[in-house]
Amino acid sequence: MWAGADKCSPFRMWISRYGTRCESPSTVVPTMAPGIGTLMIWCCPSCHGELVSNAMLLECGPCARQFPVVCEVPDLRLEAPTWIDYETDRSRALIIDELASAKGVETAIYDVFRHSRKFSHEKSTYRVKQVYASIERCTDQLQTWLAATVQLGPIVDLGCGPGQMSAAAAGQDRQIAGIDVSIEWLTIAKHLIRAYGGEPQLAAGLAEALPIKSNSLGALVSLDVIEHVGGQQAYANEIARVLGPNGRFAITTPNRFSLSPEPHVGVWGVGYLPVPWQAPWVKLASGSQYEYTRLLSVKETTRIFNDASMTDFEVIFPPIADEEIAIFSPLRTKLAHRYNQIIRNKFMKLLAPYFGAYYRVLGSTAKIETTP
Ligand SMILES: [Zn+2]
Repeated sequence: MWAGADKCSPFRMWISRYGTRCESPSTVVPTMAPGIGTLMIWCCPSCHGELVSNAMLLECGPCARQFPVVCEVPDLRLEAPTWIDYETDRSRALIIDELASAKGVETAIYDVFRHSRKFSHEKSTYRVKQVYASIERCTDQLQTWLAATVQLGPIVDLGCGPGQMSAAAAGQDRQIAGIDVSIEWLTIAKHLIRAYGGEPQLAAGLAEALPIKSNSLGALVSLDVIEHVGGQQAYANEIARVLGPNGRFAITTPNRFSLSPEPHVGVWGVGYLPVPWQAPWVKLASGSQYEYTRLLSVKETTRIFNDASMTDFEVIFPPIADEEIAIFSPLRTKLAHRYNQIIRNKFMKLLAPYFGAYYRVLGSTAKIETTP
């Protein structure tokens, strides 16, 4: 909590931008900025300058850019062409914040799927269950394949969505900060993390222009995000920039060259086509739009990370987890078990980049600790 929080909530601060006066503290607080909490890794996404609290806004010292704070979440997004409308996102966040406070976070999550995503009642209910199931999966992942990555802090979950990874960490008495492009999801994350006993450390930001100080992180986790980022090279460059010496990262993504259907649209063979043909093929096969998604092959991902000066990483095709298979249909269950047999075979493993369903990239930065 920051100075003046009781007198003027972020909600009122936001209203004040639309005409209602909001009495704000007159002194500039140099460090404990609104919504930032104790985590001091946030910075200006444009010039990486230090942020100071100026009344109820955050202001960059060097470049004087101002950033609002919405529902306690600092909005450190640069204006950039993305799929998201910032004004709509901010006003939805206010609605979601009130709903979560009044009726609980589960109701609020349902509302995001039902009203922002326009999903049916059944699909929305299913997706709410998935969010909670994902917290359990994150709990498990933090203790298994992510354990080596998340040893050193500070840790950021890039593209945290509703904050399942941070909630799982809170349940284990650990701290993982979250960044996402949507304040609506970050508002859910705030309530969810608190429900799991954690202290949320969240910021809205673009993956291509992270509001994180250079060389400041011990670890960065970004699961199923790279395929949705417009600037995939910039995303990798930013990961390389923000990780400190010996900083570790873990990303996951569906494989472009996969024998299973494209997971976002359920269409077979999408990744084997040249990129310009993918959207027309998806439209033809399913009637769905194929936008804001570009799956990468292992070769493409390797090139992107190498170009970001990251060379110390490995690509792993894991077997499909039992708890995932548990919710499959009988046919898919059979196929999944067959897939797991094949992927564990040491010769077939070598061919995995040309048929595997999804992969992990695990690595560290080549940065060396220098004494000042
Ligand atoms: Zn700046």
